[in-house]
Amino acid sequence: MTFFKTYMKRILFSSLAVALSVIITVNHTFKTVQVSTNQNVPYIWEELETEKKDFIKWIDFNVCFDALDAAYRLDVNSYETEYHYNWIELLALLACKYGNDFDKYTKKDLDSFAKQIKEAGGVSGIAQNMKYYDYYYEAYSAILCEFLGVREDGTYGMKVFLPIANKYSFSHYKDFGSSRSYGFSRTHLGNDLMGSIGTPIIAVETGTIFHIGWNQYGGWRLGIRSLDGKRYYYYAHLRKNHPYVPGLEEGMTINAGDVIGYLGMTGYSIKENVNNINVPHLHFGMQVIFDESQVDSSKEIWIDVYNIVEFLKKNRSSVYMSNSETKDYSRVK
Ligand SMILES: [Zn+2]
Repeated sequence: MTFFKTYMKRILFSSLAVALSVIITVNHTFKTVQVSTNQNVPYIWEELETEKKDFIKWIDFNVCFDALDAAYRLDVNSYETEYHYNWIELLALLACKYGNDFDKYTKKDLDSFAKQIKEAGGVSGIAQNMKYYDYYYEAYSAILCEFLGVREDGTYGMKVFLPIANKYSFSHYKDFGSSRSYGFSRTHLGNDLMGSIGTPIIAVETGTIFHIGWNQYGGWRLGIRSLDGKRYYYYAHLRKNHPYVPGLEEGMTINAGDVIGYLGMTGYSIKENVNNINVPHLHFGMQVIFDESQVDSSKEIWIDVYNIVEFLKKNRSSVYMSNSETKDYSRVK
């Protein structure tokens, strides 16, 4: 009997040891997988050994439209109430909960966070145990911080606009990262908005013109950087012969909602003013910049703007033909 007890103890003990080592191995493997697939951004806060610079190196912007929309409503509807929600905080909490997989999004989770924040009087207590909260908060702030706020007319709401003028139709699909064959092999770093040639193109956010003129890939294009320097909006393939509204030049400030140019099919040519794109469309891209070393380098961060374009449909700029001779359009104020 004693022998039997000892025997059972040994079996139990060794089983426990095996189970424990399996858990450790699985856990270790899981961590390794996370790092190598870059899904859950664990290496973002890495510090370069040579230069002690701490800034975000990469963002996979996966926030789905439903989460953007619901968080936006909570923020706007609670403005000037006892607790004003910050939609960026809500989205950062959701990203932590889902490990950046917004296929898991439910409105119930968002409402639960909203309730907890309100009860606690702030987000810090809930966020303090979330390892990547600060990362997501900073990443989403860089992308969305100027999207909502007090507008010129004093009301609180959306300050950014859809790049396609009001009442002009367009279509788009999820094309971020798909391959492009012209020139060197590369992936698509934006969203193509298919529409009619001449459709007025609208500045999404207020900013400074950084690039204007011909570019081999983008054709007639415009690059506008936000006033805080964190976002660079890229509008490409503008119309042959008459790509821009008159008077635009590098260094000029453009207001959100203003007409900047016209949809076309220029590009894919070293020669200027050539229509080499098959289907007329606006290529719309958004680059996020945390450090100047990320500008014009292989370290550029371009995000998937498909869901952002869907979100921007809420705020469209109305236009009218302001010059019948040049057939230029302006924004209806
Ligand atoms: Zn494109």
